[in-house]
Amino acid sequence: MVETKFGDFYDLHTHSSVSDGTTTPTEIASEVLSAGLAGFSLTDHDTTDGWDEARTAATQFGVDFLPGLEMTTNFRGRSIHLLGYGVDSRDERLREELTTLVNSRHERAKIMIERLRRDFLLDWDSVLEPVAARGRITVGRPHLADALVGAGFFATRSEVFEGVLSTRSQYYVPTYATETSAAIALVREAGGFPVLAHPAAFRMRKPVDASAIELFAAQGLGGIELRHPENREDWLPPIREVAERQGLLVTGSSDYHGVGKPNRLGEQSSPASAVETIRAQVASPR
Ligand code: AMP
Ligand code: ZN
Ligand code: FE
Ligand code: FE
Repeated sequence: MVETKFGDFYDLHTHSSVSDGTTTPTEIASEVLSAGLAGFSLTDHDTTDGWDEARTAATQFGVDFLPGLEMTTNFRGRSIHLLGYGVDSRDERLREELTTLVNSRHERAKIMIERLRRDFLLDWDSVLEPVAARGRITVGRPHLADALVGAGFFATRSEVFEGVLSTRSQYYVPTYATETSAAIALVREAGGFPVLAHPAAFRMRKPVDASAIELFAAQGLGGIELRHPENREDWLPPIREVAERQGLLVTGSSDYHGVGKPNRLGEQSSPASAVETIRAQVASPR
């Protein structure tokens, strides 16, 4: 087991190829070591399937591992991402909800592919193949973006997200999302610690309202990701104020997606003390 000490930092929000990152959980553990971080949490979208590999690799590379996930949720028609640390991955109700989310993503990807097929000629059938082959891998727009980049239609994932795969595009289809309050309850009931992800991300039309955060806190929200490369500094003051008033744990993370996003591993991080606070309250601290 890795001993934590003062001055140690963790990246608490990373994605692997089990969802829409481009590196495996093992590669992330190795990169955590190279980056000089003490440890990390793997927070793949709507799945805990990468944990075993991440845990084994963390031991191998001598870094610390905190289990996590990032749930796709909906609050009054807006997409909100909820991080859940230390949940018991065997919890029946949580598993059921994650299965619904992952299956819905698969169906949604199929519909988006049908729309894209009309205008972009490529072997779309092969896009869902690795997803099917790996079972419950979480498919998302990044996989479709990578196919378009691979076929030479665009240069980068980000370019595709700005246009053809943006929420305003004719090809876009929303995916099922758990009600945010239900997701907070599910994470708590599964013994986890819920943290509101990137509340002021620049891609949103506006930041998450302070009043919504008050409500989430009353429903059991434990923390908030104030340090995130995509948070807009000018949107943060009211959010910071409510976080302080509600005594929410403040976290910092990179939201690393390998080469899929510009976010660099460890560019924002959390101190070991934040990990200790989380661990003290969860069912699966490691
Ligand atoms: P989806 O959940 O399928 O609607 O896809 C949105 C997800 O794509 C978000 O979680 C983003 O983090 C992720 N994503 C990965 N790479 C990029 C990128 N280059 N630009 C924007 N979003 C990205
Ligand atoms: Zn993602
Ligand atoms: Fe997110
Ligand atoms: Fe994320």
